[in-house]
Amino acid sequence: MAESLKIVALAGGVGGAKLADGISRYLNNSPITVVVNTGDDLELFGLHISPDLDTVCYTLAGLANPSCGWGRVDETWQVYEELQKLGAPDWFHLGDKDLALHLERTHLIQSGQSLSEATRILCIRLGIKDRVIPMTDQMVRTLVFTQDGSHLSFQEYFVKEQCEPVITGFEFKGIRSAKPADGILQAIEEAHLVILCPSNPWVSIDPILLLKGIRPSLQKKCVIAVSPIIGGKTIKGPAAKMFREMGEIPGSLAVAEHYKDFLTGIVIDHQDVGETGSIIDRGIIPLVTNTIMRTIEDRIQLAKETINFGMQLARKGKNLV
Ligand code: GDP
Repeated sequence: MAESLKIVALAGGVGGAKLADGISRYLNNSPITVVVNTGDDLELFGLHISPDLDTVCYTLAGLANPSCGWGRVDETWQVYEELQKLGAPDWFHLGDKDLALHLERTHLIQSGQSLSEATRILCIRLGIKDRVIPMTDQMVRTLVFTQDGSHLSFQEYFVKEQCEPVITGFEFKGIRSAKPADGILQAIEEAHLVILCPSNPWVSIDPILLLKGIRPSLQKKCVIAVSPIIGGKTIKGPAAKMFREMGEIPGSLAVAEHYKDFLTGIVIDHQDVGETGSIIDRGIIPLVTNTIMRTIEDRIQLAKETINFGMQLARKGKNLV
């Protein structure tokens, strides 16, 4: 049964990639569709860099660096070191193998391919069985507004400023005129289940949700989120800090509320069992389990539990296509 399921996962980078990998492995030979945030993309040295797409693709291809969650395993840094010697901007770390992918992606785009077509080609070359789709082929850029009145591009905030500035809001430049990349709305429509991976709700999932047609399409489906906040904290990254600075108490309840207009169920960690009552009060069904993915087996186990939970809810809601 698991193998014939049609699953769409919405993902950012690290947390998203780990669960997408678990789903992909659990469903074995049946490809899943992963829709990935591109609001964090940047241009550097004339290259088109898509950090979240790369993290998802490297993870699905078994090439990701397991210790830092981004970049390639067995990476070398010769070009980066030479760039430093030349006094070039060095705030964004570019490994040699990673750089090769950015070069080829940029080459494909400059030869007339869209970002989604370039991603499809690169996925085939990397041996990925799944369908990885950037959320849009138009340019959307996440801006972070900070307490001192300035705004930073996401990578400036995340990498250069190490997420230190206090946030007052976000803008997704270009989102109004952007549309979901080809195939996304159809994949959601045909899906048995949509899973929001444990990615940052503010800057990884929100840009996808703001694209034309995505929210209405999700309102018709069984949608399950896996909370990226565990015991009020993140495993990595600024999501909990962002909830606090946006005036909300970071937790699974805040994640459920963030998606309440379309969410069917949420998978939360044992540490957050105390939040189940308030989540149910919002009309959202919680599942409590271990949501920390330290190993590949953890990824597969969480994927299995999320899918089984989601399919139970989908059947109850007669949402099964
Ligand atoms: P980014 O673009 O690289 O920041 O990646 P994401 O938005 O996909 O992921 C960041 C989120 O992943 C953080 O909020 C983390 O708490 C969450 N995360 C990372 N690893 C895990 C994990 O093993 N389990 C859960 N539940 N969340 C995780």
